[in-house]
Amino acid sequence: MANSALMHTYGRLPVAFVEGKGAWLTDTDGKTYLDALAGIAVCGLGHAHPAVTQAISEQASRLIHTSNIYQVPLQEAAARKLSQLSGMDSIFFCNSGAEANEGAIKLARLHGHNKGIDIPHVLVMDNAFHGRTLATLTATGNRKVQIGFEPLVSGFVRSAYNDLAAATHLVEHNKSITAILVEPVQGEGGLTPATDEFMNGLRQLCDKHDLLLMLDEVQTGNGRTGYFYAYQRYDWKPDVLTTAKGLGNGFPIGAVMAHGKAANLFQPGHHGSTYGGTPLGSAVVLAVLETLEKEQLAKRAGELGARIVQEFTANFANINGVKAVRGRGLMMGIELDQPCGELVQLALEQGLLINVTAGQVVRLLPPLTLTDEEADLLISKLSQLIKNWLASRS
Ligand SMILES: *Cc1c(COP(=O)(O)O)cnc(C)c1O
Repeated sequence: MANSALMHTYGRLPVAFVEGKGAWLTDTDGKTYLDALAGIAVCGLGHAHPAVTQAISEQASRLIHTSNIYQVPLQEAAARKLSQLSGMDSIFFCNSGAEANEGAIKLARLHGHNKGIDIPHVLVMDNAFHGRTLATLTATGNRKVQIGFEPLVSGFVRSAYNDLAAATHLVEHNKSITAILVEPVQGEGGLTPATDEFMNGLRQLCDKHDLLLMLDEVQTGNGRTGYFYAYQRYDWKPDVLTTAKGLGNGFPIGAVMAHGKAANLFQPGHHGSTYGGTPLGSAVVLAVLETLEKEQLAKRAGELGARIVQEFTANFANINGVKAVRGRGLMMGIELDQPCGELVQLALEQGLLINVTAGQVVRLLPPLTLTDEEADLLISKLSQLIKNWLASRS
């Protein structure tokens, strides 16, 4: 696109899609693709799910937007449903993942000021990804995201992921830390799940020092990892939980949620959003959540993901270039021993949509509605592709 009028922020693949259904996309030439990425963990219900289409078209024909200066009954209903499924007490709707994390960072600072800490800090992790706004790119643990945008936002301290001793040391020696922001599974950072020891330890650390434990579930949320929210594998709750991506199945909506002492931190005037929780967006959230629940898709994601990881593990058992196969539910990664970005284009040519993150991790985030047959196709096509590619390189 030499004369594109778009800012050149993405290196785009040479394909455009015109239609989708479930786990399948059709391009401008009529060729079909198995979508094992779902718009990067967004279309959990697959493309053109009838419940979402119906919610959008019915609500759009009735009322799209009023304002948060009025009562919005659909927003109340969406919040009640989300609260029930997430276990969180109060919810603020916004429009993206980065915006949800901005809300969380504001809560962390408010919590600090309420405790008399003038310059509160948030502890964040190496290899984290939290978004592209100034505060969230600062929180992100990847220099490539930050270079060129200095000065970064102050008020962040960084620690190593899955290193409880390091986090404990920092918290014990820095009384200005008022919150910890962490992904239960790092997505962009390479599909790395947190260890249970790390997560349980962070919860205890936050309890001991009166810090907010804030989980970024923008990617792990909404059924993706086998639970409605990934934290639900533990027997505790976070203080703050953010989500977006799968919450709207492609409609841009996010949420910052809070529990217990954090639930009433925001007071009138503290935060706002013109579009947060419009009647249209709220109708979509309700449709998505009700469908996830009715079709038991979190459970399905957990079971299907476990099978897929198991089969890839078996297929790559004697293959030297594959370092690890890992995942939680339908958030899966295949780590190779070398940069493998070119696999994306090779897969595309074969009608398969995948992604590579952190240089050498093949990332799979298929719709939660993926059928057993589609999973078999994904496993066989991708196993063969990776084996052939590795063989051609050695
Ligand atoms: C995608 C993502 C974000 C950013 O979400 P946007 O909607 O692109 O702003 C933040 N955190 C995590 C963990 C993500 O995966």
